[in-house]
Amino acid sequence: MKTRYLRYSLMSILLAGVVYLALGFGTRRFEDFCPFGGMESLWGLWRQGEFSCTLGPLNLALLIGILVLALVAKKAFCGWACPIGFLSELGMRLTGLVWHKRPAVPAHTDRWLRLLRYAVFALALYFTYKTGELILRGYDPFFLIFSGFGHGSIGLVSWIVLIATVIGVLLVPMFFCRYLCPLGATFDPFSRLGFIKVVRNDNHCTQCGACQLACPQDLAPFKMNKIRHRDCTNCLECVDACPEKDVLQLKATL
Ligand code: SF4
Ligand code: SF4
Repeated sequence: MKTRYLRYSLMSILLAGVVYLALGFGTRRFEDFCPFGGMESLWGLWRQGEFSCTLGPLNLALLIGILVLALVAKKAFCGWACPIGFLSELGMRLTGLVWHKRPAVPAHTDRWLRLLRYAVFALALYFTYKTGELILRGYDPFFLIFSGFGHGSIGLVSWIVLIATVIGVLLVPMFFCRYLCPLGATFDPFSRLGFIKVVRNDNHCTQCGACQLACPQDLAPFKMNKIRHRDCTNCLECVDACPEKDVLQLKATL
């Protein structure tokens, strides 16, 4: 639990920062801190030598920083910083209070659904590059929530998408992160290589399964000696949940 308090404290500060900017108190807009904006701006930079729409160098710098972070510590950005990841996790904890035996998505279906994020990623980039507009805004929970359905949202469609996403988050833990997040798709290959990861000591593991029950991403640490899975956020919930001393540890290893 100590790690969770630390994570939640950090994410609360970052979420408060985004809200502060979204309310117009800062000198920058909250969108300036969207790393996926860096990805959306690449085509414009390459073709015209300028950033698309309202994007700027900070978006690109954040994207590069997060890709480097993924090479070091996998998807730590998602588990320790992302406001949408934080809100999704809070939704999971809240529904967990009243829904103790949540039905799990069958493993086979889950594997396929996790590929949806690549379709979202491809569609977002295709339409952004084709039109020069930030098409994702109308469907992006981060933008819709913090802009209060600002410029780029598309009325009823945006509402339907956001409500469907919220329902998804309440039904399936980390629904948006697991299945739809295009930023997650961007750094999946980097996360696979991340060298700081959770490592399991097979000799003392009792295969009790507590680690999988605790994992927000529904990974199964007890089936792996090193958690190389692209979706591991190094949140350390599994480490805290493991009843055996030092069976799961965070280590720097290939
Ligand atoms: S919680 Fe610990 S002991 Fe139990 S299966 Fe997972 S790694 Fe093994
Ligand atoms: S495997 Fe462990 S560290 Fe990775 S996401 Fe799951 S609970 Fe977090």
